[in-house]
Amino acid sequence: MNNLRNFCVISHIDHGKTTLTDRFLELAHAVNASKLTQRLLDSNPIEQERGITIKLAPVRLTYHLKSNIYILNLIDTPGHVDFSYEVSRSLAACEGALLLVDATQGIQAQTLSNAYKAVSANLEIIPVINKIDLAAAEVDLVTKQLNEALGFKKEEIKLISAKTGQGVKELLDTIIAQVPAPKANPEQPLKALVFNSIYDTHLGVVAYVRLFAGSLKKGDKLSFISNHHQFAAEAVGYFLPARHLTGNLSSGEVGFVATGLKDISLARVGDTMTQALNPTDSPLPGYREPKPMVFMDLYPSDSSDFIKLKSALEKLRLVDASLNYSPVGSSVLGSGFKIGFQGLLHAEIVQERLEREFDLELISTSPAVEYQVELNKNRELLTVRSPAEFPDPTLINQTREPVAAMTIFTPKDYLGSVLTLSQNHRATLTDQQFFGNQVKLSYDIPLQELISGFFNQLKSATSGFASLDWQWLDYRSADVVKLTVLLNRAEIEPLSVLTVRDKADRLAKELAAKLKKVIPRQQFELPIQVALGGKILARETVKAFRKDVTAKLYGGDRTRAMKLLEKQKKGKKRLKRIGSLNLPQEVFRALVSQS
Ligand code: GDP
Ligand code: MG
Repeated sequence: MNNLRNFCVISHIDHGKTTLTDRFLELAHAVNASKLTQRLLDSNPIEQERGITIKLAPVRLTYHLKSNIYILNLIDTPGHVDFSYEVSRSLAACEGALLLVDATQGIQAQTLSNAYKAVSANLEIIPVINKIDLAAAEVDLVTKQLNEALGFKKEEIKLISAKTGQGVKELLDTIIAQVPAPKANPEQPLKALVFNSIYDTHLGVVAYVRLFAGSLKKGDKLSFISNHHQFAAEAVGYFLPARHLTGNLSSGEVGFVATGLKDISLARVGDTMTQALNPTDSPLPGYREPKPMVFMDLYPSDSSDFIKLKSALEKLRLVDASLNYSPVGSSVLGSGFKIGFQGLLHAEIVQERLEREFDLELISTSPAVEYQVELNKNRELLTVRSPAEFPDPTLINQTREPVAAMTIFTPKDYLGSVLTLSQNHRATLTDQQFFGNQVKLSYDIPLQELISGFFNQLKSATSGFASLDWQWLDYRSADVVKLTVLLNRAEIEPLSVLTVRDKADRLAKELAAKLKKVIPRQQFELPIQVALGGKILARETVKAFRKDVTAKLYGGDRTRAMKLLEKQKKGKKRLKRIGSLNLPQEVFRALVSQS
């Protein structure tokens, strides 16, 4: 076991994890260099296109150093905050972590949050500055930041270019020297951590495991500690990154077990897998269950596609265990699903996958958080995930909203703008720390504010330089109210939103203005009203139709106008009848989009 190393690469998004992994693969001759598509581990087409990693992908490298052969298990991790629970899973399967920092960007919010996670998982951390090939690289400055923020010494920090390969071989040697080999307990009963599970159409549920004790082989009768469910190991092996069959795995190793199970919820991430006949009596500590943070209702554009949407969600759920959904109905939009997401990026990706991979056209409601409502009667506590579920205000004793702990990293120059922006979003500053030219700001912020365009506004307020990380904190008392939208004087329930009283006025005006911008002209003059209870807080009017449908749009967002035109070209099919109106689904989409 002395020649085994399990490590992962952690960083802020885009700092080069996946590119570095490709270099490692080349050095270990794991793949033919000519066959190497860019960023090999991002195998999902959306990952390839957007250059982000959604699912973690383990890979085993065989590396020759002097006369020794080492086996390195590398686990690539996603960098975006929506997928941070995936990071915790990868960490628990490793002894070491490379902390990658882009030499042109410096430390960012997720650099720190991931570094803290690695520290609390007791990993050996190797600090690495990447992209030193770039002219804009500021190695000294980033070295200073790493020293001030995390206490790394200059001589500990490795300098590399994942693009050109400079320093990458030396980095592998450092990993072998510094990351401890896993403690081997092959004689003890099997104890394997399930750190991911996927569904394969041929093999059924495949569990990704890290063995902490014992061993397993093909044909063994295994079980999960949490649910005592038994199954046979139908295939056993490791990742190259393609699956490679070996027939057995032993303590310290990372690999997979094909369980033959058809239900992925049986192979829970964080569970311990053991031998059914000789189970371990000390299961591993599990992980936190991913908690859905943002809720959206998705409806098929064409209501006859409901069953298709249902089966698409069932299939997606097989590969994305964090996806959580239940059926909903709406008078206007028909039957659909309420879906819980990890965050907005997660929501966007799921929607895109449903549309692309399953050929669905979807309408979605605005993203919402989960409120707590305490009723007068018996102090009954309700969780409210959509405006439709919000009780009549006269029945309510008090309301609470979810609050997140948020960390912002920004260059000092933008401190003023960030403070103002955060204040406008009801955030409370809890801590402020300076690292060289960077400031780290800690806030408590209502989750609803965080998902209402905050990130984009932060980016534009800081010319793209600030970064953000957040995690769930708790529920806090807030005066939650429901705004309703009336089009042509008829209430359109799916456009309702929940907000707090202090923001109702402003939000009503924004909502009315936004609707005016996206609703195309009709044959008649169309009044838009936004109301709180019986009181109209905002109104706008869409003037009657003229021939050129985009005339009014050119004043505003040109790309949106173009998109609208394109969509409309596709014809009647994309129009949705709402009350007395035919509306393009762009109306709904525009409400959801954060731009
Ligand atoms: P990840 O999000 O951490 O996985 O980052 P990626 O590996 O996807 O890299 C993000 C972007 O940075 C890509 O466009 C890479 O080509 C680029 N990149 C990564 N490493 C280097 C490097 O060492 N030098 C340069 N010039 N670009 C790099
Ligand atoms: Mg990546």
